[in-house]
Amino acid sequence: MSAPIFRAFGISRLRMASDGVGVTTLVCGYGCPLRCRYCLNPQSWSAGIPTRDYTPEGLWKVLKIDDLYFRATGGGVTFGGGEPLLYADFLPAFRAVCGPDWTINIETCLAVERPAVALAAEAADVFFVDIKAWDDDLYRAYTGRERTLARENLAWLLARVGPERVVVRVPAIPNFVTPEAADAAAEHLRAMGVTRIDRFAYRLPKNKKEMP
Ligand code: SF4
Repeated sequence: MSAPIFRAFGISRLRMASDGVGVTTLVCGYGCPLRCRYCLNPQSWSAGIPTRDYTPEGLWKVLKIDDLYFRATGGGVTFGGGEPLLYADFLPAFRAVCGPDWTINIETCLAVERPAVALAAEAADVFFVDIKAWDDDLYRAYTGRERTLARENLAWLLARVGPERVVVRVPAIPNFVTPEAADAAAEHLRAMGVTRIDRFAYRLPKNKKEMP
């Protein structure tokens, strides 16, 4: 059987406190099921951008240059994107190669099928989940997709790995999610058992104008 592949459009080394504890390397996965109106990384799903396919062994060989930093700081690898759970079968295989000492973080919207979340739960230490909008209509308007998968997967993930391993990012988004709506979303999340909430104001990328 051939090795699973992670298709990346970028790798960013020596990051501090931006996507997980300690020193991390961000590996950006190509492709995303959502089409957020103010997407920060539209290149992650644009056709024709340069990408590279990594096997677990191949990626480990690239990332191990920072092994000492990872071990000394409790850091490791953050798989982001795009949506890294599009390559969920890669993650347990990568864990088997890198061993237990590197922290594996996942930045995800959870708008993927459940088996992908289950595979990631086997391999990852911490999940950073961006919920976009709590309200179904706003979520659809902002992302172009229904919220059902993301909502159900979040409840499943909390039960599967425990709330201490799930950080939920709750943005206020200009013209879509007011600060009050984001506060209300945080309350709903606490009621469903989320204990780690990152409530923030989304700042538009420079090339985006607010929707009228
Ligand atoms: S989930 Fe992230 S990468 Fe995907 S469309 Fe939304 S902002 Fe862009």
